[in-house]
Amino acid sequence: FNVPALRNEPVKSYAPGSPERSELKKALENARSKQVEIPQYIGSEEIFSQNKKRVSPPHDHQHTLGYFHEGNADDVKKAIDSALEARKTWALMHWEQRAAVFLKAADLIAGPYRAELNAATMLGQSKNAYQAEIDSACEIIDFLRLNVNFLTDIYKQQPVSSDGVWNRMEYRPLEGFVFAITPFNFTAIAGNLPAAPALMGNVVLWKPAFTQVYAANVIMKVFKAAGLPDGVINMILADGPVAGDIVFKHADFAGIHFTGSTKVFQTIWKEIGENIGSYKTFPRIVGETGGKDFMLAHKSANAKALATGLIRGAFEYQGQKCSAASRAYIPSNLWEEVKGYMMADLAEIKMGGVEDFGNFVNAVIDEKSFDKIASYIEGVKNNPEEAEIVAGGTVDKSKGYFIQPTIIKASKPDYITMCDEIFGPVLTVYVYDAEKFEEIIPIVDSTSPYALTGAVFAQDRYAIQYATEHLVNAAGNFYINDKPTGAVVGQQPFGGARASGTNDKAGSVLNLLRWVSPRVIKETL
Ligand code: GLU
Repeated sequence: FNVPALRNEPVKSYAPGSPERSELKKALENARSKQVEIPQYIGSEEIFSQNKKRVSPPHDHQHTLGYFHEGNADDVKKAIDSALEARKTWALMHWEQRAAVFLKAADLIAGPYRAELNAATMLGQSKNAYQAEIDSACEIIDFLRLNVNFLTDIYKQQPVSSDGVWNRMEYRPLEGFVFAITPFNFTAIAGNLPAAPALMGNVVLWKPAFTQVYAANVIMKVFKAAGLPDGVINMILADGPVAGDIVFKHADFAGIHFTGSTKVFQTIWKEIGENIGSYKTFPRIVGETGGKDFMLAHKSANAKALATGLIRGAFEYQGQKCSAASRAYIPSNLWEEVKGYMMADLAEIKMGGVEDFGNFVNAVIDEKSFDKIASYIEGVKNNPEEAEIVAGGTVDKSKGYFIQPTIIKASKPDYITMCDEIFGPVLTVYVYDAEKFEEIIPIVDSTSPYALTGAVFAQDRYAIQYATEHLVNAAGNFYINDKPTGAVVGQQPFGGARASGTNDKAGSVLNLLRWVSPRVIKETL
């Protein structure tokens, strides 16, 4: 198995005066100056409909970037037929041919499409250049390249033979098609969820979030340019329930690769359960869902490192990461100092459109999200006995969906913003008695039903050990003295359990294993 060595794509800095900065600026201007028509990609066709929906930057909602063409139930059926047709050849294709397509796609993103894809993520999802570089360029390149290595790790697993007997294991794709439902927040996840099953020989229906179609369209163009055969990945733009109604009743539905909300995942799981008798095979259910991720500090923590971790963990990409730090437990001895550092950082942070690279904070994704986040902030203002706003708290949706990074201090650990997933730039802090570290840990563990990411900050090794042991099931990705966001493909395989999903670790062998259905062959020689 000779495949390119494991390596992560280097992150470009976009420093003032750098060539990558001017290239990206040009790509942004180019994208802003025209309007694109985004079709569905089904088989060899690009399908344009009468049902056009406007696409605009969340930080500048009156500007039009283009239109996407919404699909209907017939399109979904057609996409399933195209996928099953493509399966006849794709499932039999040698793995090297499949791998070459995705390695080529990675190279195209690393080179000629990098600026276009980053610009699309920045404008369509209101994400600054640095965050876009990490998650729309580097992370997707890493997924595509590293998954080829993980594939060979799987194929290498072979049974033992004996005298006169040759045993072998064949890693077939699932019998049917896979449905990939992808979120708005990470372009890399949007690309990986259809690509990972396809690499393993599966055919896919891909439904990106409507709030992410602008960059999804670029990914689809890259897959085509890389030579992905027609019908292997079909991008459908039908509304979730419309698509679900067809997909989850189809006999050839063989698996779902999902990232999104816990509630939607539960609904999907129920629907699959209701139809379980009608499938040819038990479908694989793989999902990464919500989070209410914690940062727990011990009295021995370094206050400056903790404050930086809180600001970055809570406010990068406006807190719209499943992994974002959204509840913090700070010991009373450190609070004033940590608050001071955070206030100083916040005073420096600028908010605005992505076109100005100096803006650390941009807009939240859409009006619905804005209204939800704003209502939590409003709730604090109406409830001074239980919580107070320490920083931020201002919202404005006149030009874009802007919410100032907001820090809430709760006077009880189960205040609503300590419990609910808000998915915005809102951090809630509970200050606990610095001598009662052991008593705060069961509260950290039980306040939320989620278990995606979490962090402990301490210099005392006993405290680190205690937290690591006693929070064993509280996070699938656990950080010591670092923020709980920014997992790197191949370095920190990502995913959580409890209400956060099936914990099949994106960007690892564990995820790819879900997309194969092995056959053991015993041959008597
Ligand atoms: N993998 C991302 C991180 O580590 C989070 C992905 C998500 O938000 O779904 O920050």
